[in-house]
Formats: sequence, structure tokens, C-alpha cells
Amino acid sequence: MSIQHWMTFGTFAEQQFFTYPDKNTYNGVVLNANMVAHAPAGLAAFLLEKTNPKTVYMIDPLTHAFQHDPDHIQTKDGNVKSSVLNLAKSYGEIITDLVGKRSLVPGDFDIAHNRKDFVEKCLEFQRTSLAKVMADHDTNKKYLGQTEEQLRPYALISPYFYMKEATVKRWLPLMSDCVDEAVILVKEGEKLFAAIVINEGVVLDDDLITEIANTFSSKKLDGFLIWIDEMDEHDASGRVLKGYLKLAKALRGDEGREIINLHGGYFSILAASGKFGYQYLTGVAHGPEFGEVRGVVPVGGGIPIAKYYIKKLHNRIRYSDTIKYLRTAGFLDNDIIFHARVCNCQECQKTIDGDITNFSLFGESDSKLVKRGTGFVTMDFPTRDTKVRCLKHYLESKKWEYEFADKATKEDLITDLKKGIEEYEKAAGINFVSYLETWEDVLNKGV
Ligand SMILES: [Zn+2]
Repeated sequence: MSIQHWMTFGTFAEQQFFTYPDKNTYNGVVLNANMVAHAPAGLAAFLLEKTNPKTVYMIDPLTHAFQHDPDHIQTKDGNVKSSVLNLAKSYGEIITDLVGKRSLVPGDFDIAHNRKDFVEKCLEFQRTSLAKVMADHDTNKKYLGQTEEQLRPYALISPYFYMKEATVKRWLPLMSDCVDEAVILVKEGEKLFAAIVINEGVVLDDDLITEIANTFSSKKLDGFLIWIDEMDEHDASGRVLKGYLKLAKALRGDEGREIINLHGGYFSILAASGKFGYQYLTGVAHGPEFGEVRGVVPVGGGIPIAKYYIKKLHNRIRYSDTIKYLRTAGFLDNDIIFHARVCNCQECQKTIDGDITNFSLFGESDSKLVKRGTGFVTMDFPTRDTKVRCLKHYLESKKWEYEFADKATKEDLITDLKKGIEEYEKAAGINFVSYLETWEDVLNKGV
């Protein structure tokens, strides 16, 4: 079975990229529930008009948003963000009463009928909030003629909460109870997923992995979403990556349930390829905006910098470093060498256009005055065109990665990783490129 390629919706400014490089690139789109609550009509139109009709979608119910410090869901003037408030209202009284005032705790759902009401509302929100609007949308009526049932999400996700090593024992029983309710509420033909959202500490603990897997193993679930807080596959230790695979394998179980990593990179794609003795995952999602790493608790966006995805390194590298690496490796000597050794995607061909000095267009920036303390400093920001070029090249590279991992033999996949080290270790340093060896080692040994 081929690897499902999912992309996470970030902002409407990026909606044109969900058919890039072509309309068959993405199997599915992940949408955040707060955006769905905030802009159902816009998202319905996006799904109908800006994605392939065959592309499915899922709504991340974002139930964990209510367990963090209310500061994270408030605007600067202390009000709850309207999108989160709308979502809270959809989830019922318990959530509406506490949103913006205090953090949700497991005890809030001790009373069974409150819990049932919450699970019911959470599933119903996912089931109907877009499907209804899409069914009534002109584009659907004129061209597609799909029923509301046909327009429902790929799977419904049971309410979930973020767990650290120390809090697994508090949240897991609640998540388990929620899944039990959800199993009863799911309708014929609907898939039900649970989401395991954890920190790296959890995957380093074999007992916790077993406890989580055992909790869900006998339940009627079709699959799981996995999200490891801020895990960057390029920086993660071999132990963390191994723990991640162990968890995925344990959840997949003998039934071969679906496993989708919500924020994964090429390591996850390789783990989903099935070429290393076992198919740990069935799908991998990444976003155009925040790439392949995401923190559970949102933090303010840093200063935007242009990043170029070096295909052989399977990594997005800041432009200034990219230039250094490519120059040292001799890959910027001329356009022919560049296309042969670095990238020959449509965007790179269009940008370079026969003149290698045009590579600078991937890093073109504007200087702006930015207030810092009592004065102003000049800072460089990538231009809109730069961002679009880098993004298009990134998306073409990702499409290539999913297809390559699907079709290549294990030997070809390993050769590709080795080449990344060979070609870039002198330019970037052996410590920097060593993750490629870690990936190979972890996948080869298996769990
Ligand atoms: Zn390219």
C-alpha cells in the first residue's frame, strides 16, 4: 500500500498550494477545528475548489487547546480568540464555562453524562460542520453533486489530550473513556481514530508505550494520529526515533490499524515505506507553513527566514547555510551541475533559467526597519516571491520523497541516505549530517 501524503492547512494565503505540483499530490488535508469553527464557508469552498475532488480531509478536534494555560488562547487584550471561543461553544457547557478562565483538567469529565455529551458534540462537530456547508455549496451542486454523507471527514477523531511522562496516568484514563463513548456514537461506515499527542519523554519509556498501546488495543478503533511535541527528526536521538517506531508498531497492532504522523519528515516517510521489514505508519502529514515540526503549545512566530530544502539532506536549510554548503560542494559552479546534483524540479529550472547566479532568488530579501527596545534596527525579510519559490521547490521535493520511498528498493533508499552524507559532510560537517546515518541505523535495526 502506498504512503498517504497529507498536508496540514495553515492559512488561506497558502490554499493555492494544495494542488501543487499537481492535483494528485495529496491524499488528504488536515484542518484545525478552530479554523473550521471560525471560517466554515471559506474552508468548504477551499476543499471543493482548491483541492482534487478525490482528496479527503480530517478535522483535528484540537481538544488539547483547552488544557493549557488560557494565555495561549487569548489575544493581547486578554480576550479568548474568537475562533477558539466558537469551537468551545460547539463542545458544550463544560468547555464554554472554563475557556479563557482556567485549564481543563481530567476531573472536569468525571461525571459520565458530561463526558458523553462532550464526546458526542466533538464528533458531531467533525461530522457535520464542513460536510453540511459543502453539500449546500454552489460548486458541489453544479459540478460534483455529492451528498453530505459523501462529504464527511475521512475519519472522526476521539477527543484527545497532550500527555507528558508524568501526566500519562492522569489523561490516559479519560482518553480511554472518551474512546469508549465514541465507539458507541460512531455510525455505520465511519472510521474512528484516536490521537496520541505526547512529548519525547513518553517514547523513551517502554512501560508507557506498552501502557498506551494496551489501553487502546482491544477498542474498536480504525487508526491513530501521532504527534510528538516539537520532535525534529533531524535532531532527535536514535533512542527517541526508536521509541517513536515502537509506539507506532504497538498501536498498529496485529490488525494493521492506520497510523498517521501529523507532523513528520522524511524519516517518517521511510518508516511508512514498509521497505525496512515493517510498515510502521500508513501516512505522514506536513504543512507548508510550519514544515515538519510543531510544538503542542503554540508560540509566537519567529522572524521569517528563507529556507531551501536540500533534497539529498532531506532537510530545510536556511538560505545562508545552503549557499555555503552548495558552494563548498561545487554544486553552484554552473546550472548543469546544479540540476544534476541538487535539484531539477520545475521551480528550480524556472528560477535558475540557465544562469546559476539566479540561485540568489531563493534568498532574496527586503530590508525593513524593526522596532527593538528604544530604537530601530534593520532586518532582512524574505520577499513574497522568495517564499513562494522556496515553498514550491519544497513541495516538489516532498512529492518526490513520497514517490521515491514508495517505489525504490531498500538498497536504493539506503544509497540515497549515504550519498547525502558523502556529498555534504565536508561542507556541513559530520555532526550536522549524522542524522542520515541515525535514520538508516534505526530503520535497519527495526523495533
Ligand atoms: Zn527544486
